[in-house]
Amino acid sequence: MLDLNVNGERLWQSLMEMAQFGATEKGGCNRLALTDNDKKARDLFVAWCETAGCTVSVDKMGNIFARRPGKNNDLPAVGTGSHLDTQPTGGKFDGVFGVLAGVEVLRTLHENNIETETALEFSVWTNEEGSRFQPAMQGSGVYVGRFDLETEWNKTDVNGIRLKDELERIGYLGDEEPGSRNLGAFFETHIEQGPILEDEDKTIGIVRLGQGIRWYNITVRGQESHSGTTPMHLRKDSMVASAKVVTEIEEIAHRFENGLGTVGFMQVYPNSRNTIPGEITFSADLRNPNPQVLEEMHNQLTGFCDKLAGERGLEIEVDHFWYFAPVEFNASDDVKAATEKLGYSHMDIYAGAGHDACYMADLVPSGMIFTPCENGISHNEIENTTPEQCEAGANVLLHTMLEASARIARG
Ligand SMILES: [Zn+2]
Repeated sequence: MLDLNVNGERLWQSLMEMAQFGATEKGGCNRLALTDNDKKARDLFVAWCETAGCTVSVDKMGNIFARRPGKNNDLPAVGTGSHLDTQPTGGKFDGVFGVLAGVEVLRTLHENNIETETALEFSVWTNEEGSRFQPAMQGSGVYVGRFDLETEWNKTDVNGIRLKDELERIGYLGDEEPGSRNLGAFFETHIEQGPILEDEDKTIGIVRLGQGIRWYNITVRGQESHSGTTPMHLRKDSMVASAKVVTEIEEIAHRFENGLGTVGFMQVYPNSRNTIPGEITFSADLRNPNPQVLEEMHNQLTGFCDKLAGERGLEIEVDHFWYFAPVEFNASDDVKAATEKLGYSHMDIYAGAGHDACYMADLVPSGMIFTPCENGISHNEIENTTPEQCEAGANVLLHTMLEASARIARG
């Protein structure tokens, strides 16, 4: 079955056809979750899957599952999927490529009359982007039980429109309980959304880990006083202390392999030219794919803040309010085996952004296949890739799913 290949031209045409729904002037897509354009994209996916012999079901969160039976339909199925919604100024490939790579796998098996060992399932997850409704990865998050269905149903967009009402309006409020598919493995193909594969000249990224994230609000409390009358040695300047923390965050990130540290938001009180600032609040975002390393980064940040507060006689409060644990993709060996069989150049990589597969990894052994994207640019209307790169990713998905299906059948 090694000579089995997807049809890259057909995959590219399908990508371009899907991109018409919400097409923007700059060549991107504006297809927010549960809008009319999202409905059109979903309808086309369903039609394509039914034409290729699938039965389609929808769960209460609007997640879609197209099932292709195999030889033994009592065994757990092998799943794949991604999302069809986009950012308001999104591209043609983020999410959509993963869904349509699945459709291309399905068509290839269908036209070659190949019966797989287990059933295969092709899915679309609701509102991955988190743009119209928050949070991101909402459909897969409900599916795996991280979020409560009723709570997410009642989320509203900026116009006060309720998510459940939109699901109903576009015809995707299903009756199946989220989390009830019988899956034995799950794979997601995605453009990398970063520059590493292109930079390293590799065709396939085998995603071993999804990086962990720690978010903070840091408040520095000093003392407001007159900039013209307060000698330097008598100041409790929250701006200078904040600047030292910001610089330390960059240094912490440099100190560890794959470390990332960002301060993207800052509020200065009273924000006046001739008053030494009394209180400053800013964000901090630390990331690393290794949980121990991320914890050490956390410890260095809190340790630095304690020490600095003591030295400068001011108060530094570090509110660590969100932790997203690093994800291990336990089925990535299937991806590697398929990639090597096909002879594509490859490297291990970690996922820097969140993906539906990061949540699916809670429930079933999962894997991700990354393909290069031009200049690493994503969440942008100029997001781009090539037909050859998409074809390679879909070929790896095809052989990964076959590999996983055979593995599950062997027991
Ligand atoms: Zn995506």
